[in-house]
Amino acid sequence: MKSQEIRARFLDFFKKKGHQIVPSAPMVIKDDPTLMFTNAGMNQFKEFFLGNTVPKYQRVADTQKCLRVSGKHNDLEEVGKDTYHHTMFEMLGNWSFGDAHGRGDGYFKKEAIHWAWELLTEVFKIDRESLFVSVFEGSTDSDQLELDQEAMDIWKGIVSEDKIILGDKKDNFWEMGDQGPCGPCSEIHVDLRTPEEKAKVPGVSLVNKDHPLVVEIWNLVFMQYNRKANGKLEALPAKHVDTGMGFERLCMVLQGVKSNYDTDVFTPIIREIETIVNSKYGKDEPSNIAIRVIADHIRAVAFSISDGQLPSNTGAGYVIRRILRRAIRYGFTFLGAKEPFMFRLVKVLVDTMGETFPELREQRQLIENVVREEEHSFLKTLDQGLVLLDSVLANTPGKEVDGRKAFELYDTYGFPIDLTALILGERGYSLDEKGFHAAMKKQKDRSKAASQVSKEDWVILADDLEQEFVGYDLLETHVKLVKYRKV
Ligand code: ATP
Ligand code: MG
Ligand code: MG
Ligand code: MG
Repeated sequence: MKSQEIRARFLDFFKKKGHQIVPSAPMVIKDDPTLMFTNAGMNQFKEFFLGNTVPKYQRVADTQKCLRVSGKHNDLEEVGKDTYHHTMFEMLGNWSFGDAHGRGDGYFKKEAIHWAWELLTEVFKIDRESLFVSVFEGSTDSDQLELDQEAMDIWKGIVSEDKIILGDKKDNFWEMGDQGPCGPCSEIHVDLRTPEEKAKVPGVSLVNKDHPLVVEIWNLVFMQYNRKANGKLEALPAKHVDTGMGFERLCMVLQGVKSNYDTDVFTPIIREIETIVNSKYGKDEPSNIAIRVIADHIRAVAFSISDGQLPSNTGAGYVIRRILRRAIRYGFTFLGAKEPFMFRLVKVLVDTMGETFPELREQRQLIENVVREEEHSFLKTLDQGLVLLDSVLANTPGKEVDGRKAFELYDTYGFPIDLTALILGERGYSLDEKGFHAAMKKQKDRSKAASQVSKEDWVILADDLEQEFVGYDLLETHVKLVKYRKV
């Protein structure tokens, strides 16, 4: 089944269950000081959950453009290394707002769980045996262990007990913040291991880092509490359902492949990268990672630009610039891409996604121009860095390059440290890594001290804004520290 059809079937399924299909909200958020990018389907409905706005429809479904590169959800370091975390991805979701004991059109756990199961196993025909679910058991506001008995009972009517795994507060309890709506969740995971792999590691752990082929696909959140300022939970008079399913992961399962990058969401882009850099995906791990990073990052960058967020030196624009530079550098280092090339991927992206997201098609020219210009100037920086590196080498007496010099290159000129190390290796030099890390730590301590001072006079509203710049590839999401004066 083609990805286009998978998306359409999801929406159609919920439409038939009385849901209003709404458009994706922009991925770049302009009017919320607590969040820079949409990182989940529920973001655009936040005001409904908080009770500040009354929704027009009680049942809603959509596909939402998400970006997880900062704050609470930062997957950047996984991207390219694993095959199921992206920076930009689509989150399919269905919602019920304000279920008040059967009044109106709202629904809660029973419908949400049964429909999710029906869609996956009857419409999409995923093998029931490969699915596992999780149910919340943990402590929420006391030391007492609580079980989401309601969800447990519903699942017991659907799957055998060995398919139900308990998850604690970290994995199975969703909260918007320190206060506000929250509740337990149930996740659906798929086990794509071969029988041989299963024999090696019997049973299943739903923490997907334990096995890359046991992957979470859908999260069903049941908002039934309100956390008060004193930390205590009180039952919400009207409950909400908020679900999110990774579209690219669903495509992976339905297309019978073991990596999101082998679905038709990504293969056209990957084929184009192969042609441009004259390499084959699958050749070796470093170039595989580079190709995945590029295929992923061009989406994040193109979607941001089409939302009106250009790369820049501050805030969201800086996050986008660093994502683009990260991809350029991977291409430069591992695929020998010394000329601008990412702008040439925009066409394929528009061909595959322009129908669902027309803003991409409409902004194609702008996206290409901006990306090409960014590539051009960053490649120049890389070139200048190489010249500087030459002069460092000329002034290095032995065969080991001073870590402080490497740090200077990195810090002042944006010259990535792994690139420095690579070039040094090629030229028969080594890097004084200790010295580099010491210089890095010194700088980190300096910025930490600075931010501590500022915390005394200012309140920082959200963790999204609290990131500190620690270096080029360690934390790519330099987020402008937005501060609010205490009132
Ligand atoms: P994971 O544990 O795999 O990181 P998550 O628990 O952080 O996922 P949720 O916040 O529950 O994810 O988001 C709902 C769904 O969105 C997930 O079940 C998953 O299918 C998908 N998803 C989450 N993060 C990503 C990502 N970085 N790339 C692609 N899909 C994602
Ligand atoms: Mg995650
Ligand atoms: Mg998870
Ligand atoms: Mg989850």
